[in-house]
Amino acid sequence: MDLSFTPEQQAFRVELEAWLAGNLARPWNEEIRDPAHDSDSLVEVRRAWQRKLHEAGYLGMGWPAEWGGRGASVVEQAILEEALWRADAPQIPNFLGIDLLGPALIHHGSEAQRRRFIPKMLSADEIWCQGFSEPGAGSDLASLRTRAEPDGEHFRITGQKVWTTFGPWADWIFVLARTDAEDRYGGITFFLVPIDQPGVEVRPILQITGESEFGETFFDGALARREHVVGKVGEGWRIAMTVLGYERGVQTMAYPARFERYLADLVRGLRENGTLGRSDVRARLARLIVENQVMRSNGLRTLANLASGEAPGPESSIEKIFWSEYAKRQSETALDLLGPQAQLTIDARHARPDMDWAREFLWARAGTIYSGSSEIQRNIIAKRVLRMPTR
Ligand SMILES: Cc1cc2nc3c(=O)[nH]c(=O)nc-3n(C[C@H](O)[C@H](O)[C@H](O)COP(=O)(O)OP(=O)(O)OC[C@H]3O[C@@H](n4cnc5c(N)ncnc54)[C@H](O)[C@@H]3O)c2cc1C
Repeated sequence: MDLSFTPEQQAFRVELEAWLAGNLARPWNEEIRDPAHDSDSLVEVRRAWQRKLHEAGYLGMGWPAEWGGRGASVVEQAILEEALWRADAPQIPNFLGIDLLGPALIHHGSEAQRRRFIPKMLSADEIWCQGFSEPGAGSDLASLRTRAEPDGEHFRITGQKVWTTFGPWADWIFVLARTDAEDRYGGITFFLVPIDQPGVEVRPILQITGESEFGETFFDGALARREHVVGKVGEGWRIAMTVLGYERGVQTMAYPARFERYLADLVRGLRENGTLGRSDVRARLARLIVENQVMRSNGLRTLANLASGEAPGPESSIEKIFWSEYAKRQSETALDLLGPQAQLTIDARHARPDMDWAREFLWARAGTIYSGSSEIQRNIIAKRVLRMPTR
């Protein structure tokens, strides 16, 4: 295991940081505090940022050059993720398209699908969302009931998806639907479905944070063209599983970078309220700092394994639990230590210059649910890492 960066990787980091300094107009925290913005205009800020990243060659970097990438190594991709979080850059709006669907099309899609969808996905001209979960199928995804029936050159899709992130702004949705009711896994097919058609309705869901980034998506005989089936009919489960594997890809460095920035804000807040010198406060802060270092070291280990050609294994569940549960601990500690000062931020947006800890506290719960809940990760660790008996 070699945890040091090569001179080329260092040079990439320097080039990237210079580019960020010259191109990122305002950190995201300033954008969201600007009273001139609403949720739609913030999406446009994110779209414009995605275009900049794309034009500079920083999107889909690990993809082949033919599809807009530069065949970058996982280490370069991780350096990019880390630098974006450090700089507090906006999150691109098409992260589901680029992180999940893009690799799925490159590995399993047809040439025509790649030509049709990848360029507009990269340029953010078409925003994608993911239609996997249903009211009765989340952790147990194979229980999904949305069905697709052949109809000439199309399939007709009927059913309901839920928690569709970015659904309210998306142009297309990639959907898992049942083409065979009897075959639990082999009866699932992967479709690309346009949202702007009579048979699709996205209803935004109001979240506890006050935002509506998700939707419930209803299909009532919606049309999906046969040529927009990814892979073959009945291959959807296999493709979905590889897609979900990409989700755990190169984020290993991103989380510690993000939490480090949050910690710096917490330290500032504690200095402002005059409690930074207290030994009990310092002990709790130190614990968060050490845990974040542990997370980064573990991330570097994973990165070294990925760089030497290993596929992400069940150990990625350890990382998933660690960062998502840490996010909860960090925000709970911040609320506790900052007291009323932290609560001020949720409505009085200008009260503090940086973090909205009250929002972070509410939002942190989500991380322990999406991409496999903490309980599911613990099951994976018990079975596949610790090899514990099932009974
Ligand atoms: C922020 C966010 C964004 C999301 N975005 C999308 C999206 O864009 N597209 C999409 O398709 N989905 C999305 N999801 C849905 C997400 O994939 C599901 O929420 C997740 O898979 C859990 O499913 P569920 O909500 O149905 O909960 P359930 O699976 O019903 O779980 C309920 C509870 O039971 C526990 N549990 C379930 N099974 C077991 C078990 N075998 N052993 C022990 N405990 C268990 C779970 O841990 C959980 O605590 C998103 C979710 C969140 C929170």
